[in-house]
Amino acid sequence: MQPQVSALELRAKTGGAAIRKIPIARVELDAREFAAVRKVLESGRLRAGRVTQAFENEFTRAAGARHAVAVNSGTSALFLAYRALLEPGDEVIVPDFTFAATAAMVVAAGCKPVFADVDPETCTLDPHEVERRLTRRTRAIAPVHLFGGPADVAALASLARRHGLRIIWGAAQADGAEFGGGGGGAFPDIVCYSFYPTKNMTTGEGGMLTTSDAKLARKLRLLSSHGEASRYSHILLGYNFRLTDIAAAIGRVQLRKLPAALRRRRENARILTRGVAGLPGITTPRAGSGANHAYCLYTIVLEPKALGMNRDQFQRALLRQGVETAVHYPLPLHRQPIFRGYGSDRDFPVSTRLAECVVSLPVRPGLTRPDLERIVQAVREIVSTRK
Ligand SMILES: *Cc1c(COP(=O)(O)O)cnc(C)c1O
Repeated sequence: MQPQVSALELRAKTGGAAIRKIPIARVELDAREFAAVRKVLESGRLRAGRVTQAFENEFTRAAGARHAVAVNSGTSALFLAYRALLEPGDEVIVPDFTFAATAAMVVAAGCKPVFADVDPETCTLDPHEVERRLTRRTRAIAPVHLFGGPADVAALASLARRHGLRIIWGAAQADGAEFGGGGGGAFPDIVCYSFYPTKNMTTGEGGMLTTSDAKLARKLRLLSSHGEASRYSHILLGYNFRLTDIAAAIGRVQLRKLPAALRRRRENARILTRGVAGLPGITTPRAGSGANHAYCLYTIVLEPKALGMNRDQFQRALLRQGVETAVHYPLPLHRQPIFRGYGSDRDFPVSTRLAECVVSLPVRPGLTRPDLERIVQAVREIVSTRK
């Protein structure tokens, strides 16, 4: 029951000897997901129905929220959150260092993204930088729990309260994470999750919005499904962003596995950190104070001078040892072609440097102890043989 295996038994060549490659991302499914999907297929009811509703209820509890609305992607979740809370022309402050959708959906909702630099240690939105970007038109902030590590929740929430701003939390990489002792989904106003295959849990494509505001939840639900209050009565200009029961069936199984998967991610991260922390030119991830990092990604920051090589060379050297890596993200948002004119490198020094120096190592739950030891050994070897 592991159709991915053959495709992923990739071989990397090192001096003629083939070694098994350790992929950075890999969907980990077992008979439980297969059976759940089969049941939906056999029922003949494929669209969003009872299974999606059950998934929403279970996710609500897991996230510590009051309401959850399932949608067909994390991007759809962000778009609906902005549509529900904002008016065209409103300004939304977003981190300059994150996945593009956080800002792109602000534009799609008719609003204006205003980029702010991130904290060099947590790589998340820097509250002081937010403060500097406030204008009379600022209506919301959109912090992202990047890599699964929490943004500065307390400082950002207090800032938003002082200035009367809405908060749309980007929790695409923080499915199941708990911040400050509570479920991550309980924070006002809206928390947006993703179930894309590289996240902490997956439904293939999918997303969720959580909120503790019943009126807001109703509005989000309407927007996600044609603004249809009752059959063929459309009271809001809506969309079709519904999940399917097929995807929800996978999601329910994945949600049950999530606590164990997160434990594995944290344990894997601990092993990686113990192995590579303190090496010259390498900074290991650090969560904010009182934080509970979900380690959706294990992203280290390189210092090319101390390391004696640039990121490209580091990645190629690891690949030669069979360790696949990835860059999240190679461009700060202000450098993206779609965001030309939103600022320059000088405005975002931290984000600009991170984009040049970050690299993610494999940390997913399915890694074995020998896999982890190989990753650590590979990094140590590369660092020790540097010029
Ligand atoms: C994955 C991701 C998204 C988008 O989610 P999709 O489900 O792929 O649409 C948005 N923001 C961040 C930070 C992400 O990691």
